[in-house]
Amino acid sequence: MNLGFHKLNKRKAVRFAAAAFLIFAVLALAAWIAAPYCVADPMITLRRITPTHTYLDRNGVPVFYETTHDYEWRFPVELKDIAPEAVSIMLSAEDYAFYEHGGVDYQAILRALWQDVKNAKIISGASTITMQLAGFALVDHRPSLVRKFKQAAMARRLEQFYTKDEILAEYLNRIPCGGKVYGIEAAARFYFGLHASQLNRAEAALLCGIPQMPNKYKPNAHPEAAKKRQKIVLDLLAHHGLITADEARTIYESEPLRYRDFTQPADFEFKAAPDETIHAVRRARAEKERTGWSHTQGEPVLCSIDADFQRDVQAILKRRRDTLPGVHDAAAVVLDNASGEALVFLGTLDFNEQDDGQYNAANAVRSAGSTLKPFLYAEAIEGGLITADTRVLDAPLRYGTYAPGNFDGAFRGTVKASYALSYSLNTPAIRLAATLGEPRMIELADKLHILASRRPGNGFGLSMALGSAGHTLLSLTNAYRTLANDGMFRPVYYRHDPERPLPPGERVFSAGTAQTVMRMLTSLPLTGFEGTAAWKTGTSNNLRDAWCFACTETLTVGVWFGNKDGASSESLVGGTAAAPAAGEILSLAASKYDLTPFKSAWPKEDALEPVTVCAKTGLSASPDCEKTESSVKPAGIPLSVCKSCGDAASAETAFRILSPTPTVYVAEKDEGVRLDLATNEGAYWFVDGVYLGENPAPRIFAPGLHRVEAVRASDSAADAVEFTVVRKK
Ligand SMILES: [Zn+2]
Repeated sequence: MNLGFHKLNKRKAVRFAAAAFLIFAVLALAAWIAAPYCVADPMITLRRITPTHTYLDRNGVPVFYETTHDYEWRFPVELKDIAPEAVSIMLSAEDYAFYEHGGVDYQAILRALWQDVKNAKIISGASTITMQLAGFALVDHRPSLVRKFKQAAMARRLEQFYTKDEILAEYLNRIPCGGKVYGIEAAARFYFGLHASQLNRAEAALLCGIPQMPNKYKPNAHPEAAKKRQKIVLDLLAHHGLITADEARTIYESEPLRYRDFTQPADFEFKAAPDETIHAVRRARAEKERTGWSHTQGEPVLCSIDADFQRDVQAILKRRRDTLPGVHDAAAVVLDNASGEALVFLGTLDFNEQDDGQYNAANAVRSAGSTLKPFLYAEAIEGGLITADTRVLDAPLRYGTYAPGNFDGAFRGTVKASYALSYSLNTPAIRLAATLGEPRMIELADKLHILASRRPGNGFGLSMALGSAGHTLLSLTNAYRTLANDGMFRPVYYRHDPERPLPPGERVFSAGTAQTVMRMLTSLPLTGFEGTAAWKTGTSNNLRDAWCFACTETLTVGVWFGNKDGASSESLVGGTAAAPAAGEILSLAASKYDLTPFKSAWPKEDALEPVTVCAKTGLSASPDCEKTESSVKPAGIPLSVCKSCGDAASAETAFRILSPTPTVYVAEKDEGVRLDLATNEGAYWFVDGVYLGENPAPRIFAPGLHRVEAVRASDSAADAVEFTVVRKK
């Protein structure tokens, strides 16, 4: 009875145990199946770790290598860019059944367990490549059974979501290869100075041995250990039948390991610290980001700069700077007119200089001096107010408390607009600015994108015409490029992209206006450049900034000399400090690029058309004008008609010179004839182009032809008289 009861109980217990085991097995199986869906995708973690970013110049020359945030070197490559031998060696050494298993190699686990049991210690982890890759994403690196299980689950998840080749490529790009070197490409470059695609079998076998214990096997520190490890890998290949034992021996004994010279830094280490190109690099990077580029991508960023050219420009600026007492800094921008790509973007001469070496002077807001004048003239030409031959007045003027003079302190009376612009006369420019008015000047500055900031309330005043509003070298260079590009504004680019379509652009001036101004700016030769350039210098108030901008048909150069702290120096004069540097840069550019000079590109006749102008005013001739001459003006823009000649002008109220008169004076004495200078109202006087001031005393005129000019102080109305003095026979 008791026995029967026991039997019954025992049977029950067995059944219960079997059921429990079955439930456990089903649950375990369910857990195993569900596991991949319960762990995070390790690839997301892995791809968040940024690679080393390579920045190349427009010719493919490396300019900067930016390490990962933890200063690691990692250059991701695609599987096709790794030598096939290296790939198959890695597979044989690490995971022979890689293409067969689903992330976990059960056979290998059993084999490993058997070995572990047989040897009574853990020898093999039986980790597949997929599991190792998953392991790279785990923070906890201590080996444990839980970690192993998690790793296996993650590996299975990887296998479900990614192709074998994706997993393999990711793995090869992440293996630790000693020190801060990660991935096969970084390792090939660091140890051999080669690309992963160039590795031979010996080198590949050696590299494949490193990840096991990277710091023990890195060949620059432990060449013998690395070599021993290489032999183990080669034997494994022979064991798997990938090569014969003889081949393994031949590779080990005679295939060369082409180590680079370890006493020198690796190629990427040369450009690991930022230098003067960094400002261009940063802009290229920002531009790349705007195109949707992600930091986790390994592809190089192609910068617009020409690193060689920029280095030469830097040398020119340094050499010139050293000849200028009290001047420490300079900057230069060179733009390709057509594409808008910055070939040179140099904001500092020495990036590592302690105080302000990192400061980008090419983007600093400075006073622009006379460099805005061409745009004022352009605006006046665009409005039909003047053209290149129109006479403008260089005489004292005063607007409230503002009374600008010229750089040399002299006044020249009535001169042609092209002369006034070439010689950078201030008072004609201010008169133009007053005529245009401040709102129109601000609108113009906006269209050219040169206004660095807005000032609330009264605005900038007329001194804005002399650059007081504040502008950057970069924006001004692009404004000059706008003139060189027939008046069309387009943005500057810092990435080299020959495929980039030309943006439509914003029209600031008509082509005829832009060409007229460019022609006006070519009338003087640019020191240091043999071709024809349209150029303009500028010197800011109190001698703080020296500028020069120079355009050819294809390139625009902008140069600035000054001090980043704003200190002034007597040598900061645009014409002597900046212009020769701009000339030298253009000469250098001519040896590198196709620098079509303006001369051969002109005249673009369809943009300009002939016009008959009054010989006295240079405005469109009216029937009353006595003498006329031929000139050109932008096509389609009517030029203001001369109103100074004829009946209206001779009326009693008109301002005119009363003495001298247009006649022939006979001199009684040898030295000449004494004449009064008189008008019907108070005036500024000019005799033979020399300013005499207000109400000058009677004056002796020597025999010869003379020209006397008077300008009414109140409204700048002018009259001129020509006369001849002859000796008495
Ligand atoms: Zn006239």
